[in-house]
Amino acid sequence: MLDLAIIGGGPAGLTAGLYATRGGLKNVTMFEMGMPGGQITGSSEIENYPGQGNVMSGMELMQNWPEQCQKFGLKHEMDQVLNVKKVNNIFELTTGNGNKIEAKTVLLATGSVPRRAGVKGEDEFFGRGVSTCATCDGFFYKGKEVAVIGGGDSALEEAVYLAKLCSKVYLVHRRDTYRAAPSTIEHMKACENIEEVTNVTTEEIFGDNMGVTGIKVKDKNTGDIRTLDVPGVFVFVGRDVLNEPLKQEDGTFLCDVNEQGEVIVDLKMKTNIDGLYAAGDVRIDAAKQVVCAAADGATAAVNIIEYIG
Ligand SMILES: Cc1cc2nc3c(=O)[nH]c(=O)nc-3n(C[C@H](O)[C@H](O)[C@H](O)COP(=O)(O)OP(=O)(O)OC[C@H]3O[C@@H](n4cnc5c(N)ncnc54)[C@H](O)[C@@H]3O)c2cc1C
Repeated sequence: MLDLAIIGGGPAGLTAGLYATRGGLKNVTMFEMGMPGGQITGSSEIENYPGQGNVMSGMELMQNWPEQCQKFGLKHEMDQVLNVKKVNNIFELTTGNGNKIEAKTVLLATGSVPRRAGVKGEDEFFGRGVSTCATCDGFFYKGKEVAVIGGGDSALEEAVYLAKLCSKVYLVHRRDTYRAAPSTIEHMKACENIEEVTNVTTEEIFGDNMGVTGIKVKDKNTGDIRTLDVPGVFVFVGRDVLNEPLKQEDGTFLCDVNEQGEVIVDLKMKTNIDGLYAAGDVRIDAAKQVVCAAADGATAAVNIIEYIG
């Protein structure tokens, strides 16, 4: 019987593992389906992790985290958790390798992944001008023109964020109405340097070996093609929350989630189910930053130690 089963080995899961083991829990296992480190290991540049002044790759940032955790006794299983159930006050985990594990507490730290728009050139230039994170990459386009693709709350919020850094933001949307809160639309419309490019399809993101140089959009009514010369394209067309392990046989979730599938937690990272916690990008209102995910993991672990008693 584990004291704590951590699902996901990104910044949230690893930090929870560090705090839980160093804080005295004896039997803690982190289940990670790939290499530990999380989605930041796919990024070529991070420069906003406090205390790390030099721009480094996500891989470099994360490389020492697993070793630090293992020093205090965190065990790591390279395995995917398929399902979590609670039976008689004990959590039962089923894994892709066919293992059944019992745990007193569970922390879900599986993250979420931004959806791609499926535009020509998007994959080719991802990380070289195409981004899904304005907080992470907006600074690289300070004083320059950028395009934002999307028409929901996050696209509009990120466009407003970018408008404070960039000389101009083209907000490219396939409809002429937005699926966003009225106040968010109002904020966006108040930004003089946001140009709305609506009712268009994005035909292509293009560039050269240095990165993106522009996008082509097609007016849905006239068929006219317009070229926007921008070095940065931010794609915000939704996220897939990796909450699969919480899905139960009857289609419900083990704990409360919101409309987007994000796990609802309180300030202790606790869900509405005793012993079940969530941290990092998978939870509601996550800032979707490494430092925030790590902080969530620490908060969850401190409270799990107290819960186990
Ligand atoms: C390209 C890119 C650039 C970014 N740049 C920055 C930046 O500059 N600064 C910044 O602060 N943030 C940046 N971020 C955001 C940052 O990476 C995330 O906010 C952070 O990694 C979230 O941490 P997490 O631990 O919650 O989840 P993740 O890092 O997503 O880790 C979750 C882990 O869980 C694993 N997992 C998922 N499901 C299962 C399962 N069922 N069983 C077992 N394992 C599972 C996954 O393999 C993954 O390793 C960037 C993200 C991307 C994609």
